[in-house]
Amino acid sequence: MDRANVVIVGGGVVGCAIARALSARWDDIFVLEALPKIGMATSTRNSGVIHSGIYYPPDSLKAKLCVRGNELTYEFCAAHGVPHRNCGKLVVAASTQEANDLAGLMRNGQANGVEGLRLIGQPEIREREPHVAATYALLVPSTGILSAEDLVKAYARVAGDSGANIVTNAKVDRIEAVPDGVRVHTAAGEIETRCLVNSAGLFADEVAGLLGSKMAEHRIYPVRGEYCELVRARQDWVRGLVYPVPHHLRMSLGVHLVKTVWGNVLLGPTAHYIDDKNDYERNREPVKDFAQAARQLLPELTVADLVQSYSGIRPKLAPPPGERDGSASANAITDFIIQRDPEFPQVVQLMGIESPGLTSAPAIAEFVKEMVGGILA
Ligand SMILES: Cc1cc2nc3c(=O)[nH]c(=O)nc-3n(C[C@H](O)[C@H](O)[C@H](O)COP(=O)(O)OP(=O)(O)OC[C@H]3O[C@@H](n4cnc5c(N)ncnc54)[C@H](O)[C@@H]3O)c2cc1C
Repeated sequence: MDRANVVIVGGGVVGCAIARALSARWDDIFVLEALPKIGMATSTRNSGVIHSGIYYPPDSLKAKLCVRGNELTYEFCAAHGVPHRNCGKLVVAASTQEANDLAGLMRNGQANGVEGLRLIGQPEIREREPHVAATYALLVPSTGILSAEDLVKAYARVAGDSGANIVTNAKVDRIEAVPDGVRVHTAAGEIETRCLVNSAGLFADEVAGLLGSKMAEHRIYPVRGEYCELVRARQDWVRGLVYPVPHHLRMSLGVHLVKTVWGNVLLGPTAHYIDDKNDYERNREPVKDFAQAARQLLPELTVADLVQSYSGIRPKLAPPPGERDGSASANAITDFIIQRDPEFPQVVQLMGIESPGLTSAPAIAEFVKEMVGGILA
């Protein structure tokens, strides 16, 4: 049987970033991924935005890890040839009330340490995004975009170059605590490890359940986000990133416009609770509903300007509105959970790694490395 210092369950962007960080310091690091390739789940089904960190409550893990992750992600992309662009973004106000909300958003971002934020008026909005309708906007210079697929592959490649073992088709189906570690059973065989990192995304609650941990009580609710794309003839209507003002009760940042590194323009993602964590396609939303939402940002848009695109699924810790009991943990907005398991201290649990997880991945990796250091000491 193989013996590891650390086994990471899940080969998404977070698991691969953690493998890169750990393999720089320790040998015998393994990533176990259920699917035939790394990064096939949430990590490559997103907007590909390098977030700045303006939205999250100060002192939350999301705020700290996003702001740090923004800096580290740009550095990593530049050093390892990951296609990316620091295009900045506009958060646009559709009413006087929303214009007031922009000032609050700017103060929150500043409290989180986001630099260069500036409120701009119509002339500058027109100059930056001639087709977007808005009288006020918050300009966020540190936001950017990247190729998520290339990012995951690059983290995995660097980890592999440092000696990490990335094993695909290795679904973890049983975990048992043993003296000084954990024994992990997978479709590809068994392995014993001194430390286990649960980075299984949508399935992190189920992986915690395999261990018999009480942390499995942090149930993960799948919330699907769907995208449309502008047809090729309309791609020049959008130059960068355009977001609406987020509503504090919304489950996401709102349907936005993203010019990708490849030049196509995405519109989305929507947000709907679903029953099945693997259901990307059933009952897709009609394109006409996207057109209606998008006209708030791009008034010229018609249904004929849009085609259906892919979808992704958020690992939400907040239950659907009907099941919320008013407690803090039942809010629509929750923080990342990243901690050593109180019952199984050789295990680090990561739960609810929704947006901005892609951006935060290298900062999450630094944070987890500290915890692993405590376990392997
Ligand atoms: C619609 C949408 C838009 C988003 N946009 C952005 C954005 O623009 N910017 C941003 O920063 N973030 C964004 N995010 C969030 C970001 O995509 C996620 O936070 C990030 O991808 C989470 O990565 P992960 O590695 O934790 O999860 P995943 O990518 O889901 O990886 C987990 C892996 O674990 C594997 N696994 C599960 N169970 C097992 C098991 N038993 N054994 C072995 N392997 C297992 C899975 O197959 C999977 O590959 C978005 C998310 C969504 C859904």
